[in-house]
Amino acid sequence: MPLRFYNTLTRREEEFVPLREGRVGMYCCGPTVYAPPHVGNLRTFFFADVLHRYLEYRGYEVRFVMNLTDVDDKTIRGALRDGVSLKEYGEPFVAALFESLDGLGVERADLYPRATDYVPQMVEIIRRLEERGLAYESEGSVYYDISQFADYGKLSKVDVSAGRRGERVAHDEYDKDDVRDFVLWKGAKPEDAQVGAVWDTPWGPGRPGWHIECSAMSMHELGETFDIHAGGVDLTFPHHEDEIAQSEGATGKPFVRYWLHGEFLQMDGEKMAKSLGNFFSLQDLVAQGVKASSIRYLFLTAHYRSKLNFTFEALESAEQAVRRVRTTRERLRTHPAVASPGPADQPVLHRAVDAALAGFAAAMDQDLNTSVALAELHALVSATNGRLEGLGTAPISEAERDAALDAMARIDSVFGFLRVADREVQVDGGLAAWVEERLAARGAARNAKDFAQSDAIRAELAERGVVVEDTAQGPRWSLA
Ligand SMILES: [Zn+2]
Repeated sequence: MPLRFYNTLTRREEEFVPLREGRVGMYCCGPTVYAPPHVGNLRTFFFADVLHRYLEYRGYEVRFVMNLTDVDDKTIRGALRDGVSLKEYGEPFVAALFESLDGLGVERADLYPRATDYVPQMVEIIRRLEERGLAYESEGSVYYDISQFADYGKLSKVDVSAGRRGERVAHDEYDKDDVRDFVLWKGAKPEDAQVGAVWDTPWGPGRPGWHIECSAMSMHELGETFDIHAGGVDLTFPHHEDEIAQSEGATGKPFVRYWLHGEFLQMDGEKMAKSLGNFFSLQDLVAQGVKASSIRYLFLTAHYRSKLNFTFEALESAEQAVRRVRTTRERLRTHPAVASPGPADQPVLHRAVDAALAGFAAAMDQDLNTSVALAELHALVSATNGRLEGLGTAPISEAERDAALDAMARIDSVFGFLRVADREVQVDGGLAAWVEERLAARGAARNAKDFAQSDAIRAELAERGVVVEDTAQGPRWSLA
């Protein structure tokens, strides 16, 4: 079955064919580092994480780049208010971002470029746009002449005729009523110098507009044409429309092949947003006793292109669902299995495993249909429970048990909530007690020179992400 994505550019679901066989270049617009992320922001990064993980599950070698916007209207305003440099201002928010991403079990991208490190590349794109008659100077700033780019509006389907020729917008953020020539390079204002946001260019001192930053970082790191560009749905216009105009205007080549946009997280029917004040950070929620694994699970229950309502009732159901899966997995793990299947062996779980893995892949291939894929995991859990409870027919064989555990682990390599939940149990002390007991058993096996047994225990620990280091003071363990 081919992998299919809904492409915002064509408004259709399309088969995914990467530019280079077996490899994927993928970019996601990261945050502006002017506030700690809230769970609405995290839903977008979670969507990119699931996309990234599933591409790897499908065997692609993925290069995933997510930028950090550290210079724009918002960061300059914040740095001025706090009386610090742009760099000093952004660092705590970068740290808060990684703390939240790690808390939610988001796998790291290959690169997190910062806009301020790519100014020469931005200047070069603007120079090429000028050469091609797509950019012009006005009062120390440089603007994009959208009337000269025939494809302007092709992503967002914005009505270009609404824009009056030569009218300009200098703000980084504007809406569809303001379809105008947008700013590429902003001439320096006195306050920009106070926060260290001034660079010298052929057009005089200034600083980049927000949109040119993503064109420069993505093309420098992934090439002038790359496979996937992801981001929140609110970035479709103007940010991504302007990225296309800049990149394709400068290179004359297609910029991005598949545009994927994630929907909002809602609170009481409204977008969760800093500007609306209706937001929670991950840390707020954890302090209230919400588990990060529940949030991860909740996000999976809705398709990434659907709005998702954030409620505490839904989080509670998510917590129960995570517990159900974990409990079954633990019961199966600790269940005594027979080594070799006898003549009465009924490989019930093998059939359930095959069906679950096939169903999982079929659902995820269909534009990452995570809610249907989740149902496949639950079907495997039900089959496993049935097998554990209906033992009268035949004992569970090791092969059967391992196949089911392996399928759960493979599915969780994309979903990731079991791994986050395992970490939470460790914090609760449950895992710690188990690890200590296993280490004592391993010590006893080693003293008795039963190295097969001590190796088996080490493997058992590794399977749960526990790494053991033997020191002169005895074994020390940590989570991988
Ligand atoms: Zn961007």
